[in-house]
Amino acid sequence: MTVDFQQSQINLPKLKGIKAKLHRPFVGKVKTVTVKRSPSGKYFASVLVEDSAIDPVPALIEPEHAVGLDVGLTSFLIDSEGNKTDNPKLLKASLIRLAVEQKKLSRRKKGSGNRAKQKRIVSIIHEKVANRRRDFIHQVTARLADKNHATTFAVEDLNIKGMIRNRKLARAIQDASWGMFLTTLDYKCRWNGKNLLRIGRFQPSSKLCNCCGYKMESMPLSVREWKCPSCHSVNDRDTNAARNIRDIGLADSLGHSGCIKSSPVDCPVRAGSTAKGVEYSQHGSQEAPTIAA
Ligand SMILES: [Zn+2]
Repeated sequence: MTVDFQQSQINLPKLKGIKAKLHRPFVGKVKTVTVKRSPSGKYFASVLVEDSAIDPVPALIEPEHAVGLDVGLTSFLIDSEGNKTDNPKLLKASLIRLAVEQKKLSRRKKGSGNRAKQKRIVSIIHEKVANRRRDFIHQVTARLADKNHATTFAVEDLNIKGMIRNRKLARAIQDASWGMFLTTLDYKCRWNGKNLLRIGRFQPSSKLCNCCGYKMESMPLSVREWKCPSCHSVNDRDTNAARNIRDIGLADSLGHSGCIKSSPVDCPVRAGSTAKGVEYSQHGSQEAPTIAA
């Protein structure tokens, strides 16, 4: 295979005369090329390129520029500013088709030609689902990374999501998407000098009132909106949880444990790292956030 794109040229001696479709030009020095064949029979070449670009210094962590993100059952993503992003309809449609075709596959006799044919159909839909999900996640994360006023995002880590998941297919897909979402958002934040705070422990984010810190005894999934018995504020279930995630993320990065009420912190801190465990140095005095029971 020979790939020519301006100055970049790749020669793979074992794959002569195969045309390739390039999605973007290579900037930098090509180090390795990995060729993979998908179960549906398509070939993909991933090209590792070394460039000399250095990630920008992460922005200061400032509560007024922090956004909490949560995943919901009906929406894919909910933020602490009240925005909700639904799963795309196309993805839902291909998931239903996948379930139908998978059931057909389970009925085919082992070793039969029809089973092999059905297996190929299933793997093609699998690939479509994966492509649509990847496309969707790139759109969502690009929109977040481009948000001018948000320089810090707080999320729950994947293993916490794993703790609360059930065995339903929809939920499993949601979990898989959340993992990919976190990986993608993580590097886009690094490229754009933004911070990604991960909450590394379980917090009852849906049960706490974000206005006053009151903790509800129970919060059944059917409850979409609730009135706090303590401060009487009316909370949207998902937005309230996203706000708690934002505040827990901020509290963790400022060196406090527990859940904070969304009291403004008057002094920003600088993030030393955007990966797990935020290192920071503090500038000036800092008002202690209120710790809720
Ligand atoms: Zn309250």
